[in-house]
Amino acid sequence: MLGKIQTNVSLKPYNTFGIECRSKYFVAIERERDVEAIFRFISREKPRHLVIGGGSNLLFKNDFFDGLTIHNRLKGIKLISENEHSVIIEAKGGEIWDDFVQFCVSRNYYGVENLSLIPGTTGAAPVQNIGAYGVELQDIFHSLTALHLETGERKIFSKEDCLFGYRDSYFKSREPDTYLIESVRFRLSKTKKLSLDYAHLKEQLPENPELQEVRALIINIRRSKLPDTEVTGNAGSFFKNPFVSREKLDELRNLYPRIPFYVQGDKLKIAAGWLIEQAGWKGKRIGDAGVHGKQALVLVNYGNSSGQDILSLASLIENSVFQKFGLRLEREVRVY
Ligand SMILES: Cc1cc2nc3c(=O)[nH]c(=O)nc-3n(C[C@H](O)[C@H](O)[C@H](O)COP(=O)(O)OP(=O)(O)OC[C@H]3O[C@@H](n4cnc5c(N)ncnc54)[C@H](O)[C@@H]3O)c2cc1C
Repeated sequence: MLGKIQTNVSLKPYNTFGIECRSKYFVAIERERDVEAIFRFISREKPRHLVIGGGSNLLFKNDFFDGLTIHNRLKGIKLISENEHSVIIEAKGGEIWDDFVQFCVSRNYYGVENLSLIPGTTGAAPVQNIGAYGVELQDIFHSLTALHLETGERKIFSKEDCLFGYRDSYFKSREPDTYLIESVRFRLSKTKKLSLDYAHLKEQLPENPELQEVRALIINIRRSKLPDTEVTGNAGSFFKNPFVSREKLDELRNLYPRIPFYVQGDKLKIAAGWLIEQAGWKGKRIGDAGVHGKQALVLVNYGNSSGQDILSLASLIENSVFQKFGLRLEREVRVY
């Protein structure tokens, strides 16, 4: 039923939390011309609209979404240009992110390997400026093309236009749910350039490692730490690591000398997973909603949890972290 608007469709297979929610309208797009048809439907019916990729960074709070869900399946990866040192590669928004990473690593294009195995699609990656192991999407981003779902205008966004921040961008905080990101361009290096300082990656690799070895290590670490969404519903880190002032960090370090923190540019961040664990939540479960036993940042659905169950658990965690540390946790996952 590609390109055809369907009604009353279950979104359970389309979100990694595995939450049941029915969408009033649903459409899967695989060809450019499907996009035009959807734009016409939106102009006519004016529904609330939501673009989804892998559904790995969202939570449905109700059992009905009163609008149009657009499932982006636009696929394709192509080389746009290259010189002696670098390449520009374009991936369509529905391309599976890790397939894109594998494509680049297998051709010895450097820069994206630390982002191996992050679930989801390439079109969603700029929305929250995905990041892992010391690298963020913005480090390799060139530009993207997006369609304004209400005016039909197609626009190219430069890196500056995207206003990337820590798990943030123009598409998350300025104009959410307004654009469909159709394709993303990346600039990758053809000369060897690895980022191995974060999380002691270097120590776990042979001297002078190959690109493929870095990807393999990251895949192994991720598989050992994070729950498999096929087995246990989750959306990765539910919360962001909170930024703190130097004074607040000093105050907390006096009380908790082993508190983990990171320096990001001129900002200081505390590990939210540690805060949640110290507040006693790691491995806790309320009904079918729970906190993962290996990584307290990850909230899980053990089976039949509703979006409300997950949100209630999130609120309890936020309150106890605030009471214990005076820090407010911000949610990373988008709630609809
Ligand atoms: C086990 C696990 C581990 C994870 N690890 C990490 C990690 O290490 N680092 C990290 O940064 N994230 C991580 N995530 C979060 C998630 O994988 C990323 O945010 C990913 O980019 C989401 O992609 P998606 O296609 O699933 O997006 P979705 O969940 O489908 O959508 C997320 C948001 O992007 C919007 N969106 C999606 N596609 C488009 C599009 N084409 N155009 C416009 N808007 C769009 C949606 O409307 C929604 O607001 C993890 C998630 C899981 C489940």
